[in-house]
Amino acid sequence: MRHILLPAASLAAIVLSASSVQAAPTAYPDAEAHVLDMAKKAIALRSVEGEGNQTPQVAALFKQRLIDAGWDAKDIDIVPYKDTAYLIAIWKGSDPSLKPLVVSAHMDVVEAKPADWERDPFTPVVENGYLYGRGASDTKFEAVLAMESMIELRKQGFKPKRTLVIAYSGDEETSMATSKLIAERLKNAELVLNVDGASGTLSEETGKPLFWTWQGAEKTYIDYEITVTNPGGHSSAPRPDNAIVQLSEALVRIGAYKFKPELNDVTRAYWTEASKLEADPKKAKAMRDFAANPNDPAALEVLRADPASVGRVSTTCVPTMLSGGHARNALPQRASANINCRIFPGHTREEIMAELAKVAAMPAAKFSDVTGDDSTMAPASPMRPDFVAAARKAVTAAWGPVPLIPSQASGASDSMWYRALGVPSYGAAASMIKDSDEFSHGLNERIPLLNIRPGITYYLSMYKDLAGK
Ligand SMILES: [Zn+2]
Repeated sequence: MRHILLPAASLAAIVLSASSVQAAPTAYPDAEAHVLDMAKKAIALRSVEGEGNQTPQVAALFKQRLIDAGWDAKDIDIVPYKDTAYLIAIWKGSDPSLKPLVVSAHMDVVEAKPADWERDPFTPVVENGYLYGRGASDTKFEAVLAMESMIELRKQGFKPKRTLVIAYSGDEETSMATSKLIAERLKNAELVLNVDGASGTLSEETGKPLFWTWQGAEKTYIDYEITVTNPGGHSSAPRPDNAIVQLSEALVRIGAYKFKPELNDVTRAYWTEASKLEADPKKAKAMRDFAANPNDPAALEVLRADPASVGRVSTTCVPTMLSGGHARNALPQRASANINCRIFPGHTREEIMAELAKVAAMPAAKFSDVTGDDSTMAPASPMRPDFVAAARKAVTAAWGPVPLIPSQASGASDSMWYRALGVPSYGAAASMIKDSDEFSHGLNERIPLLNIRPGITYYLSMYKDLAGK
């Protein structure tokens, strides 16, 4: 799960929504107990890339649970891939003319070193209303919540018109090879609900829901290497050209460069909605002005000065690693740097590399794309009215009438692979956390258990609306 931090979200604007939370959502005692039980079992399996990777066991655990809940074994496919595996489970809809709804998540987790943690990362612990363990927030708990809600829906006798597909990848945190394979296999889907997506925010003070975000686009992660080579020689006899100096000149120009500010439907809606929650009037005005005119110089200055907002304005590229030279007393034969870019949807990696080369204005510098196969260009998903309406209804039923804020992530999730194939994908986890509870990929990862009940309500509503008609 990727929690979206809003730049300095306002308290004033938020008290209003927090105080208007409606009555608690329905209890589903059986499903609630299963969510906790299955989340604990999944966390206990060390599904980390490399030797002893237990992702296939997580897939087997989920498969058995689905079979016990009425799925036909032949509708569940576990596909091994290197040390991992992916899972596809189908619940057939009654109308074969409708394209399937895919529920996406991942079963792998980021490495965790037990010595660094207060509690063992692979021993699930319930304490003070939290479930602790690697994968609690990214994303085993949410994957289980989405699955158990589907089981509950089936138990209630619901008959979907559209086929519902659970599609859980096995290497989202690393190479994304299974993510790519799944998207290719499910490219005929109507829509993807990626539950490893954006989530809601709870108040630090009251613990009440403040707002909920969904993710409709993401920037593309790309690494370029820029290299200058030189015949070199003895440092006592300098040549007019020097690889380190030439690379430095190119990097200074790249560092100072600002890419064209841009908007798409998702970011325009983000600026508009987020401005309503922004406490700082200067920032709120900049957000509104930028949504109206992305070339407004005053708005750009404010938004680019804040690390929380600069990435939403345009493509960004920044030097992140540097190497050069081979001896203290030799002219450098080689100097190189890594430039990490987050490309705004709608541009190709070739286009941005060409732009960087132009900015560097250094004929001796050679550019190459060193990203590899784990990233791809993906357009923003459209603001589909059926998804937006279903999300509003589900969130309101679960959490009350909180503001919904669309967002564009800085990359990268499994949604990227679907979007690249033209399938709309929406990051939309049910859960809400405090900003201070965000420990995804970090130490002492946890999720508040208060998410279980509203989460089931949320997914029941989403599935009924998106698959029922
Ligand atoms: Zn994740």
